[in-house]
Amino acid sequence: MESSTKSQITVEKSKTSKIDQVDFDNLAFGSVFSDHMLVCDYKNGAWETPKVVPYGPLTLDPSSKIFHYGQSIFEGMKAYKDTEEKVWLFRPLDNHKRLNISAKRMAIPEIPENFFMEGLKTLLKVDENWIPTKDGSSLYIRPFIFASGQGFHASPANEYKFMICLAPSGSYFSGKVKVLIEETYSRSANGGVGFAKAGGNYAGQFYPTQLAVEKGYNQVIWTDDNTHEYIEEAGAMNIFVRINDTLITGPTSDRILDGITRKSIIQIAEDENIKVEVRKITVKEVVEAAKNGSLKEMFGAGTAAVISPISTFGHKNTDYDLPELTDKSYSSTLKKRITDIQYNRAEDKFGWRHEA
Ligand SMILES: *Cc1c(COP(=O)(O)O)cnc(C)c1O
Repeated sequence: MESSTKSQITVEKSKTSKIDQVDFDNLAFGSVFSDHMLVCDYKNGAWETPKVVPYGPLTLDPSSKIFHYGQSIFEGMKAYKDTEEKVWLFRPLDNHKRLNISAKRMAIPEIPENFFMEGLKTLLKVDENWIPTKDGSSLYIRPFIFASGQGFHASPANEYKFMICLAPSGSYFSGKVKVLIEETYSRSANGGVGFAKAGGNYAGQFYPTQLAVEKGYNQVIWTDDNTHEYIEEAGAMNIFVRINDTLITGPTSDRILDGITRKSIIQIAEDENIKVEVRKITVKEVVEAAKNGSLKEMFGAGTAAVISPISTFGHKNTDYDLPELTDKSYSSTLKKRITDIQYNRAEDKFGWRHEA
């Protein structure tokens, strides 16, 4: 195996590449992985220097705490290639900051910024050819930390792994998204871990989502755990509602995750002179707006899909259809502006683009 060093990060290159087996024109979301991965171990109270190694399975002790107590967190971000083959990241320091916010809540040791950023950039250099160039495609980046330390004692582990894996991906959702406003189950609660990207949050969503899928919906709209009267998130995305010409999204809290797409959309919308309100959204006002025709758009916002327009929502056995989208829809305007910045097709007046 060939070895080299960049900063202090060592690179062990894989002997063969799988890249020729990948159909870059028909990429599903997050289902093929690049040739390498970043691994960084936490032992004896400190993070060791990260390594780039060939992508492959891990060996873990069956008593590793990740298996029993779900002590794990993750991030989701993307790398974009412009027409000159230059590679860009979008607000990556915000992902690093949020990973550490999640880490703190889950009693996981925080990862230093240089290990995160240098590790990511070194990995991206090694697997640069895996960044797709087809329109709408990008390299999905999955940083994560989990408890590899051993023992059945229900307490924080003493060893962890921070890893980054890369998955070349096409667009996340396709077609019309039909959602169900959830009135029984909850994604998060006050004082809970809903604001963290903690693994178990998503496992807890699978069953209610399966029930919605059985009823013919694609996703669940999460409401507050206490009354189910307020709209909070759309699956694993933040949610925006347009009533007349006002764009509304809920305030971040213990229960609503502080999405980077969400906060970027708020800024871009304000820059477009769209009226934005950050306030609680009631199920009642959305149903009334759908009935009287003032509900113009609803969409989810997150890194994977960027903006995912909702075509229909279900509430108490009634389905409400949203108007067809046009070129003037906020979702089209905002998606174009954010992706133009991400792919270096437009000026970045906000300073969000980051050279990889
Ligand atoms: C990751 C995530 C989001 C979106 O965050 P982005 O930073 O925009 O990708 C929204 N809600 C939940 C629950 C999430 O896990």
